[in-house]
Amino acid sequence: MIKVALIGNPNCGKTTLFNALTGATAHVGNWPGVTIEKKEGIYKKGKEQVQIVDLPGIYSLSPYTPEEIVSRNFLIDENPDVIINIIDSTNLERNLYLTTQVLEVDKPVVIALNMIDVLEKQGDTIDIKKLEKILNVPIIAISALKGTGLKELIDKVIEINNDKRDGYTVLTESPLYHLYQKALDIVKSETDMVNPIFHAVKLIEMDEVEKSRNPQLIKEIASLEAKEPLDEFEGDFGGKVADARYQYIAKYFSNIITKKNEEHFTKSDKIDKVLTHRIWGIPIFLVIMFLVFHLTFSENLFFIGAFIKEGTFDIPIIGTDAINSPGVMLQSCMELLTTTIGDLLSGWLKNAPTWISSLIVDGVWEGLSSVLSFIPQILCLFFFICILEDSGYMARVAFIMDRAFRRFGLSGKAFMPLLMCFGCAVPGIMATRTLENEKERRLSVMLAPFFSCGAKLPVWGVFAAILFAGRYGDLVVFSMYLLGIVIAIITAIILKFTVLKGEPAPFIMELPAYHLPRAKSVGIHLWEKLKHYIVRAATIITGAIIVIWFLSTFSFKMQMVEDSGDSILGVIAKGITWLFIPLGFGKGSDGWKFVVAAFTGLIAKEMVPATLGTFAGMDEDLVLGGDGETLRNSALAALIGTISVPAAFAFMAFNLLSVPCMAAVAAAKGEIESRKKFWFTIAFWMITAYVVSFIIYWVGTYWWIGIILLGIIVITITILVLVKKHSQTTMKLSE
Ligand code: GDP
Ligand code: MG
Repeated sequence: MIKVALIGNPNCGKTTLFNALTGATAHVGNWPGVTIEKKEGIYKKGKEQVQIVDLPGIYSLSPYTPEEIVSRNFLIDENPDVIINIIDSTNLERNLYLTTQVLEVDKPVVIALNMIDVLEKQGDTIDIKKLEKILNVPIIAISALKGTGLKELIDKVIEINNDKRDGYTVLTESPLYHLYQKALDIVKSETDMVNPIFHAVKLIEMDEVEKSRNPQLIKEIASLEAKEPLDEFEGDFGGKVADARYQYIAKYFSNIITKKNEEHFTKSDKIDKVLTHRIWGIPIFLVIMFLVFHLTFSENLFFIGAFIKEGTFDIPIIGTDAINSPGVMLQSCMELLTTTIGDLLSGWLKNAPTWISSLIVDGVWEGLSSVLSFIPQILCLFFFICILEDSGYMARVAFIMDRAFRRFGLSGKAFMPLLMCFGCAVPGIMATRTLENEKERRLSVMLAPFFSCGAKLPVWGVFAAILFAGRYGDLVVFSMYLLGIVIAIITAIILKFTVLKGEPAPFIMELPAYHLPRAKSVGIHLWEKLKHYIVRAATIITGAIIVIWFLSTFSFKMQMVEDSGDSILGVIAKGITWLFIPLGFGKGSDGWKFVVAAFTGLIAKEMVPATLGTFAGMDEDLVLGGDGETLRNSALAALIGTISVPAAFAFMAFNLLSVPCMAAVAAAKGEIESRKKFWFTIAFWMITAYVVSFIIYWVGTYWWIGIILLGIIVITITILVLVKKHSQTTMKLSE
């Protein structure tokens, strides 16, 4: 079998080609990092079977991100038989930058000149014969989307499969030639590395991978480079090599493409004039996002409720005196389904021993239902986001946000993962993998829980209905979202100046042409995202809920207890409640109940109101499904009434900022490589939660503490600014 690697820039159509060749349904997307792992498939149509490997898109073979490392390692270490280098023909010159590096590998290469349909539509032509002659490898014009040229491409792959091809580097024609020759001699005489030309060039570039793999060779090359005369690059050989590549491309390829009209404004350009407008870009985006959230979470679709008299109708699923959004309707359906099944289960198990029915109904099924109950809204939110992504809009948003984010040590690319956290921190944290810079990745993971996720909504809902007799419910919920964002900004700035010093990676991204979202690709994308949520959430949350059920149902003597205060969890919580007295909600004889609730919240936030409800002796359905009036007259309201309003806010803040849920912890563990940094992140979440709750409680209780605090903050900032100015002036002086 022939092993073929697909390599090319992001968005040049690799995955589309992969799917077309193998019949697979890998996700095709406009978002960088969609293909973060390699995918393999088989082309079966010809005489010979061909194995195709789709690799993450890259701009260069000197890696910065985990995805780029995947691509380079595959090419260099896994020895494919043939390389297909895909080039977006509408972006020829920029794509050739990667090609100059691919050609350095000693492997048969065929270039697939993709998007030829777009090129033809624009009326432009590329002189393929001439391109073939200069690059000295076969070139096949294809359209991965329309399926043209694919057979020729595979035929060519089979034809050149056994060819011997020596790598070629553009340094041959550059002032660096003599250095390159010496480097090549060293590589060839001192090692038996395959792809000596590739390695020689990477050594000259002082490439990071080469540095760690061949420290001895790097030393020798560095001493050679030290002897070179200084020029405008001042010893930056990576920059010199890059320059040589650009010069080469400019020299040979600037006139290979004939454009019909020198400057054509495409439809996309026209749309971009509006959507990425310097001033209107962000407001437009906010309106679009508001619509998405509105369609997912609102119980008053398009504010129709304002025109309907109270008490007019109350139809399950549709709404009460207003129309529910599609997201809420779907959620109601799911609720109906899970409660029906729950009732059926407890009916069946009526005669079973209590611990069995308790385990199955209150433990396993409760756990599964809480996982299921979020699927409709997550599905809904992702659906809209997938549409925005597939249409090409999200790529623009990252671009619009870049400037604002830079101040907080993030780049525009971090925007998308963080936005996703409003839905659920798990996919948000996993999406940080697309960020180039390790520090930026860690920072984004650390900030992720501060963006109030869907599972926290039930917590806010309960407090909104009960605090202030429900009069300021919307403000209570809004204040939590706002608090999260403000804390994220403050901690990002603090981290940027302390633990995570350094600049975010420069922002380079393809802005793909807008197009109508395709049902198939939205569907595939949606399923991929949902699958992750279901699998992770179902295993981790359900497992955790069973554990909690056990700990809160049994005593240390392994007997079922009536009062959960006597359970294992209750006894432990009572033991540590003093820790939470400074936060207000640990005070009083019922304080431990809030502490237990907060701790169950570390497993999954929807457990918080459920636990409080259980302590108040209420059915969970009433807590999560009851309307405001019922809640206010319930035992739960009485329980929440035992703590002061500032303590209630401190409690909410603690839930907002602490470890979001076990599924998110698992996701964070997956994205943060080092153990130490992972535990640091967990500690960071807990400490932030504690400190902020502490401040909220004390400032809320004694307003003058707020004034003192404000004074301290103003003075600190003034001093910091003065110190910074001073050091800048001294720096200027010393220059
Ligand atoms: P990848 O990042 O290299 O895997 O690129 P994708 O396969 O995800 O494709 C990026 C975008 O280009 C998608 O919207 C594709 O539909 C589109 N695309 C890919 N190949 C072609 C093509 O030959 N013609 C046209 N018009 N669009 C294409
Ligand atoms: Mg792809």
